[in-house]
Amino acid sequence: MNKSIFLKAIDFGKIYCGKKVLSDVNFEIKEGEIIGLLGKNGAGKSTLLKAITGIHPYEQGTIEVNGKELKSNYELVKDFGVLIESNFLNYLTGYENLKLLLQLDEKIENEKLDEEIDRILEIVELKDAKKKKVKDYSYGMKQRLGLAQALLTSKTFTVLDEPFLGLDPIGKDIVKKAISNKAKEGVPIIFSSHDLDDVAEICDHIILIKDGTVSYDGPMKKRIEFRLILDKVKKDVFSGYKNIQFEDNNVICLLDEDELVNDFLSCIINNDMKIIEIETNDRSLVDMFYEELK
Ligand code: ADP
Repeated sequence: MNKSIFLKAIDFGKIYCGKKVLSDVNFEIKEGEIIGLLGKNGAGKSTLLKAITGIHPYEQGTIEVNGKELKSNYELVKDFGVLIESNFLNYLTGYENLKLLLQLDEKIENEKLDEEIDRILEIVELKDAKKKKVKDYSYGMKQRLGLAQALLTSKTFTVLDEPFLGLDPIGKDIVKKAISNKAKEGVPIIFSSHDLDDVAEICDHIILIKDGTVSYDGPMKKRIEFRLILDKVKKDVFSGYKNIQFEDNNVICLLDEDELVNDFLSCIINNDMKIIEIETNDRSLVDMFYEELK
Protein backbone atom coordinates (compact mmCIF):
# COMPACT_ATOMS: atom_id res chain seq x y z
CA MET A 1 0.00 0.00 0.00
CA ASN A 2 1.27 3.48 -0.87
CA LYS A 3 1.93 5.57 2.20
CA SER A 4 0.80 9.18 2.02
CA ILE A 5 3.31 12.02 2.12
CA PHE A 6 3.45 13.83 5.45
CA LEU A 7 6.19 16.37 4.79
CA LYS A 8 7.75 17.62 1.60
CA ALA A 9 10.75 19.94 1.24
CA ILE A 10 10.95 21.61 -2.16
CA ASP A 11 14.10 23.53 -3.10
CA PHE A 12 14.40 24.47 0.54
CA GLY A 13 17.32 26.61 1.70
CA LYS A 14 18.53 28.26 4.89
CA ILE A 15 20.75 31.28 5.31
CA TYR A 16 22.46 32.21 8.60
CA CYS A 17 24.00 35.69 8.81
CA GLY A 18 24.20 36.00 5.02
CA LYS A 19 25.84 32.55 4.67
CA LYS A 20 24.03 29.76 2.80
CA VAL A 21 24.00 26.74 5.10
CA LEU A 22 21.47 24.65 3.16
CA SER A 23 20.33 25.00 -0.44
CA ASP A 24 18.24 23.10 -3.01
CA VAL A 25 17.14 20.59 -0.39
CA ASN A 26 14.42 18.24 -1.65
CA PHE A 27 12.99 15.24 0.17
CA GLU A 28 9.73 13.63 1.29
CA ILE A 29 8.71 12.01 4.55
CA LYS A 30 5.88 9.49 4.43
CA GLU A 31 3.50 8.36 7.19
CA GLY A 32 5.07 5.83 9.58
CA GLU A 33 8.58 6.11 8.12
CA ILE A 34 11.72 6.15 10.26
CA ILE A 35 14.31 8.37 8.62
CA GLY A 36 17.96 8.58 9.61
CA LEU A 37 19.53 11.97 8.90
CA LEU A 38 23.28 11.62 8.41
CA GLY A 39 26.13 13.94 7.62
CA LYS A 40 29.44 15.14 8.98
CA ASN A 41 29.57 17.67 11.82
CA GLY A 42 28.51 21.07 10.53
CA ALA A 43 26.76 19.59 7.46
CA GLY A 44 23.46 21.23 8.37
CA LYS A 45 21.47 18.44 10.05
CA SER A 46 20.36 20.45 13.08
CA THR A 47 19.60 23.42 10.85
CA LEU A 48 17.31 21.23 8.76
CA LEU A 49 15.56 19.83 11.84
CA LYS A 50 15.12 23.33 13.29
CA ALA A 51 13.56 24.56 10.05
CA ILE A 52 11.06 21.71 9.73
CA THR A 53 10.00 22.18 13.37
CA GLY A 54 9.56 25.93 13.07
CA ILE A 55 12.36 26.73 15.57
CA HIS A 56 14.20 28.80 12.95
CA PRO A 57 12.56 30.40 9.91
CA TYR A 58 13.73 29.48 6.40
CA GLU A 59 14.35 31.84 3.52
CA GLN A 60 14.21 29.69 0.42
CA GLY A 61 11.83 27.16 -1.06
CA THR A 62 8.90 25.44 0.54
CA ILE A 63 8.26 23.02 3.38
CA GLU A 64 4.83 21.44 3.15
CA VAL A 65 3.18 19.55 6.01
CA ASN A 66 0.17 17.56 4.85
CA GLY A 67 0.08 19.79 1.77
CA LYS A 68 0.16 23.06 3.74
CA GLU A 69 3.09 25.50 3.61
CA LEU A 70 4.66 25.40 7.09
CA LYS A 71 5.67 29.09 7.05
CA SER A 72 2.08 30.25 7.01
CA ASN A 73 0.76 27.42 9.23
CA TYR A 74 3.15 27.24 12.19
CA GLU A 75 0.29 25.97 14.40
CA LEU A 76 0.93 22.55 12.78
CA VAL A 77 4.12 22.29 14.86
CA LYS A 78 2.03 22.02 18.03
CA ASP A 79 1.37 18.37 17.14
CA PHE A 80 5.06 17.57 16.64
CA GLY A 81 7.21 15.94 19.31
CA VAL A 82 10.63 17.53 19.25
CA LEU A 83 13.92 16.67 20.94
CA ILE A 84 16.33 19.44 19.96
CA GLU A 85 18.50 20.94 22.69
CA SER A 86 16.03 19.97 25.43
CA ASN A 87 15.40 22.33 28.29
CA PHE A 88 14.20 21.39 31.75
CA LEU A 89 13.39 23.17 34.98
CA ASN A 90 16.18 21.57 36.98
CA TYR A 91 14.69 22.21 40.42
CA LEU A 92 11.52 20.34 39.50
CA THR A 93 11.26 16.55 39.27
CA GLY A 94 11.09 14.66 35.99
CA TYR A 95 7.40 14.08 36.61
CA GLU A 96 6.75 17.79 37.33
CA ASN A 97 8.58 18.83 34.15
CA LEU A 98 6.42 16.51 32.04
CA LYS A 99 3.22 17.57 33.81
CA LEU A 100 3.96 21.23 33.20
CA LEU A 101 4.60 20.53 29.53
CA LEU A 102 1.34 18.62 29.15
CA GLN A 103 -0.64 21.32 30.98
CA LEU A 104 0.73 23.93 28.56
CA ASP A 105 0.16 21.61 25.61
CA GLU A 106 -3.54 21.28 26.52
CA LYS A 107 -4.04 18.16 24.38
CA ILE A 108 -4.78 15.74 27.20
CA GLU A 109 -7.55 16.18 29.77
CA ASN A 110 -6.33 16.98 33.29
CA GLU A 111 -7.57 13.74 34.83
CA LYS A 112 -5.63 11.68 32.27
CA LEU A 113 -2.29 13.48 32.68
CA ASP A 114 -0.83 11.19 35.38
CA GLU A 115 -1.72 8.04 33.48
CA GLU A 116 -0.12 9.38 30.29
CA ILE A 117 3.04 10.56 32.09
CA ASP A 118 3.43 7.15 33.78
CA ARG A 119 2.99 5.42 30.41
CA ILE A 120 5.76 7.48 28.85
CA LEU A 121 8.07 7.23 31.88
CA GLU A 122 7.70 3.45 31.62
CA ILE A 123 8.71 3.56 27.92
CA VAL A 124 11.84 5.63 28.61
CA GLU A 125 12.52 3.64 31.81
CA LEU A 126 12.49 6.61 34.15
CA LYS A 127 9.58 5.56 36.34
CA ASP A 128 11.82 4.98 39.36
CA ALA A 129 13.31 8.45 38.95
CA LYS A 130 10.04 10.30 38.49
CA LYS A 131 10.24 12.00 41.92
CA LYS A 132 13.92 12.90 41.60
CA LYS A 133 14.85 16.49 40.77
CA VAL A 134 16.20 16.85 37.22
CA LYS A 135 19.37 18.52 38.60
CA ASP A 136 20.22 15.11 40.07
CA TYR A 137 19.64 13.20 36.78
CA SER A 138 22.61 11.77 34.89
CA TYR A 139 23.25 12.93 31.29
CA GLY A 140 21.63 9.76 29.93
CA MET A 141 18.56 10.24 32.14
CA LYS A 142 18.17 13.81 30.86
CA GLN A 143 18.42 12.51 27.28
CA ARG A 144 15.62 10.04 28.01
CA LEU A 145 13.53 12.74 29.73
CA GLY A 146 13.95 14.82 26.56
CA LEU A 147 12.70 11.85 24.55
CA ALA A 148 9.75 11.56 26.96
CA GLN A 149 8.89 15.21 26.27
CA ALA A 150 8.98 14.55 22.52
CA LEU A 151 6.89 11.38 22.76
CA LEU A 152 4.29 13.05 24.99
CA THR A 153 3.58 15.86 22.57
CA SER A 154 4.07 13.94 19.32
CA LYS A 155 0.75 13.43 17.60
CA THR A 156 1.70 13.74 13.94
CA PHE A 157 5.52 13.83 13.69
CA THR A 158 8.58 13.12 15.85
CA VAL A 159 11.86 14.95 15.32
CA LEU A 160 14.93 13.98 17.34
CA ASP A 161 18.36 15.60 17.12
CA GLU A 162 21.01 13.06 18.16
CA PRO A 163 18.77 11.01 20.48
CA PHE A 164 21.54 8.44 21.18
CA LEU A 165 24.12 11.00 22.25
CA GLY A 166 25.77 9.97 25.50
CA LEU A 167 23.61 6.88 26.01
CA ASP A 168 24.96 3.48 27.05
CA PRO A 169 23.86 0.41 25.03
CA ILE A 170 20.85 -0.18 27.31
CA GLY A 171 19.78 3.46 26.96
CA LYS A 172 20.15 3.21 23.18
CA ASP A 173 17.97 0.11 23.10
CA ILE A 174 15.27 1.95 25.07
CA VAL A 175 15.34 4.84 22.59
CA LYS A 176 15.35 2.53 19.53
CA LYS A 177 12.36 0.61 20.86
CA ALA A 178 10.47 3.86 21.58
CA ILE A 179 11.20 5.14 18.05
CA SER A 180 10.07 1.88 16.41
CA ASN A 181 6.88 1.75 18.47
CA LYS A 182 6.00 5.36 17.67
CA ALA A 183 6.43 4.65 13.95
CA LYS A 184 4.13 1.62 14.27
CA GLU A 185 1.41 4.07 15.37
CA GLY A 186 1.84 5.65 11.91
CA VAL A 187 3.78 8.68 13.17
CA PRO A 188 6.77 9.48 10.93
CA ILE A 189 10.10 10.05 12.66
CA ILE A 190 13.26 11.76 11.54
CA PHE A 191 16.38 11.71 13.70
CA SER A 192 19.99 12.71 13.23
CA SER A 193 22.77 10.49 14.48
CA HIS A 194 26.40 9.49 14.06
CA ASP A 195 25.69 5.99 15.41
CA LEU A 196 25.57 4.20 12.08
CA ASP A 197 24.81 0.74 13.51
CA ASP A 198 21.80 2.08 15.40
CA VAL A 199 20.57 3.98 12.35
CA ALA A 200 20.97 0.85 10.19
CA GLU A 201 19.01 -1.20 12.71
CA ILE A 202 15.83 0.89 12.78
CA CYS A 203 15.66 3.12 9.70
CA ASP A 204 13.70 2.50 6.49
CA HIS A 205 15.07 5.53 4.79
CA ILE A 206 18.28 7.56 4.86
CA ILE A 207 18.89 11.21 4.05
CA LEU A 208 22.56 12.17 3.69
CA ILE A 209 23.56 15.82 3.83
CA LYS A 210 26.75 16.91 2.15
CA ASP A 211 27.97 20.44 1.42
CA GLY A 212 24.65 21.93 2.48
CA THR A 213 22.41 19.78 0.29
CA VAL A 214 20.92 16.28 0.09
CA SER A 215 23.46 13.92 -1.47
CA TYR A 216 21.39 10.76 -0.99
CA ASP A 217 17.71 10.22 -0.21
CA GLY A 218 16.33 6.71 -0.27
CA PRO A 219 16.55 3.23 1.20
CA MET A 220 19.76 1.87 2.63
CA LYS A 221 21.88 0.17 -0.02
CA LYS A 222 22.54 -3.35 1.22
CA ARG A 223 26.15 -4.47 1.53
CA ILE A 224 27.40 -7.47 3.45
CA GLU A 225 31.05 -8.29 3.94
CA PHE A 226 32.06 -11.95 4.24
CA ARG A 227 35.45 -12.86 5.75
CA LEU A 228 36.19 -16.52 5.38
CA ILE A 229 39.03 -18.90 6.00
CA LEU A 230 38.75 -21.90 3.66
CA ASP A 231 40.75 -25.16 3.75
CA LYS A 232 41.75 -24.50 0.13
CA VAL A 233 40.90 -21.66 -2.22
CA LYS A 234 39.94 -22.28 -5.88
CA LYS A 235 40.13 -18.68 -7.11
CA ASP A 236 38.70 -19.45 -10.57
CA VAL A 237 35.25 -20.39 -9.26
CA PHE A 238 34.84 -16.87 -7.85
CA SER A 239 35.37 -15.12 -11.19
CA GLY A 240 31.77 -13.79 -11.17
CA TYR A 241 32.36 -11.77 -7.98
CA LYS A 242 33.78 -8.29 -8.54
CA ASN A 243 34.48 -7.25 -4.94
CA ILE A 244 36.66 -10.13 -3.79
CA GLN A 245 40.17 -10.37 -2.36
CA PHE A 246 42.34 -13.39 -1.59
CA GLU A 247 45.27 -13.85 0.77
CA ASP A 248 46.46 -17.42 1.34
CA ASN A 249 43.30 -19.21 2.48
CA ASN A 250 41.53 -16.01 3.49
CA VAL A 251 38.77 -14.66 1.29
CA ILE A 252 37.07 -11.29 1.72
CA CYS A 253 34.00 -10.65 -0.41
CA LEU A 254 31.51 -7.76 -0.49
CA LEU A 255 27.98 -8.65 -1.61
CA ASP A 256 25.54 -5.89 -2.51
CA GLU A 257 22.35 -7.90 -2.35
CA ASP A 258 20.94 -10.42 0.11
CA GLU A 259 20.10 -12.86 -2.71
CA LEU A 260 23.77 -13.20 -3.60
CA VAL A 261 24.60 -14.64 -0.18
CA ASN A 262 23.10 -18.06 -0.99
CA ASP A 263 24.88 -18.18 -4.36
CA PHE A 264 28.19 -17.27 -2.76
CA LEU A 265 27.96 -19.92 -0.04
CA SER A 266 26.71 -22.56 -2.52
CA CYS A 267 29.65 -21.75 -4.79
CA ILE A 268 32.05 -22.55 -1.93
CA ILE A 269 30.33 -25.74 -0.85
CA ASN A 270 29.62 -27.08 -4.36
CA ASN A 271 33.27 -26.64 -5.26
CA ASP A 272 34.48 -28.71 -2.30
CA MET A 273 36.00 -25.92 -0.25
CA LYS A 274 35.56 -26.40 3.46
CA ILE A 275 34.75 -23.32 5.56
CA ILE A 276 37.10 -23.19 8.57
CA GLU A 277 35.97 -19.77 9.83
CA ILE A 278 33.29 -17.32 8.73
CA GLU A 279 32.57 -13.76 9.84
CA THR A 280 29.97 -11.38 8.40
CA ASN A 281 29.74 -7.61 8.80
CA ASP A 282 26.82 -5.47 7.72
CA ARG A 283 28.68 -2.72 5.84
CA SER A 284 25.51 -1.19 4.34
CA LEU A 285 25.46 2.14 6.09
CA VAL A 286 29.16 2.47 6.92
CA ASP A 287 30.16 2.12 3.26
CA MET A 288 27.36 4.41 2.11
CA PHE A 289 28.43 7.04 4.62
CA TYR A 290 32.07 7.04 3.54
CA GLU A 291 31.39 6.67 -0.20
CA GLU A 292 28.76 9.41 -0.32
CA LEU A 293 30.40 11.85 2.04
CA LYS A 294 34.11 11.54 1.21
P1 ADP B 1 25.17 19.68 12.06
O1 ADP B 1 23.93 19.55 12.89
O2 ADP B 1 25.13 18.86 10.81
O3 ADP B 1 26.42 19.40 12.84
P2 ADP B 1 24.47 22.50 11.99
O4 ADP B 1 23.16 22.51 11.34
O5 ADP B 1 24.50 22.64 13.48
O6 ADP B 1 25.29 21.19 11.56
O7 ADP B 1 25.36 23.67 11.39
C1 ADP B 1 25.51 23.87 9.99
C2 ADP B 1 26.24 25.18 9.75
O8 ADP B 1 25.41 26.26 10.16
C3 ADP B 1 27.54 25.32 10.53
O9 ADP B 1 28.47 25.96 9.70
C4 ADP B 1 27.15 26.17 11.70
O10 ADP B 1 28.25 26.93 12.15
C5 ADP B 1 26.08 27.08 11.10
N1 ADP B 1 25.08 27.51 12.11
C6 ADP B 1 24.28 26.69 12.83
N2 ADP B 1 23.46 27.41 13.64
C7 ADP B 1 23.75 28.71 13.40
C8 ADP B 1 23.26 29.96 13.92
N3 ADP B 1 22.27 29.99 14.83
N4 ADP B 1 23.81 31.10 13.45
C9 ADP B 1 24.79 31.09 12.52
N5 ADP B 1 25.30 29.95 11.99
C10 ADP B 1 24.80 28.78 12.42
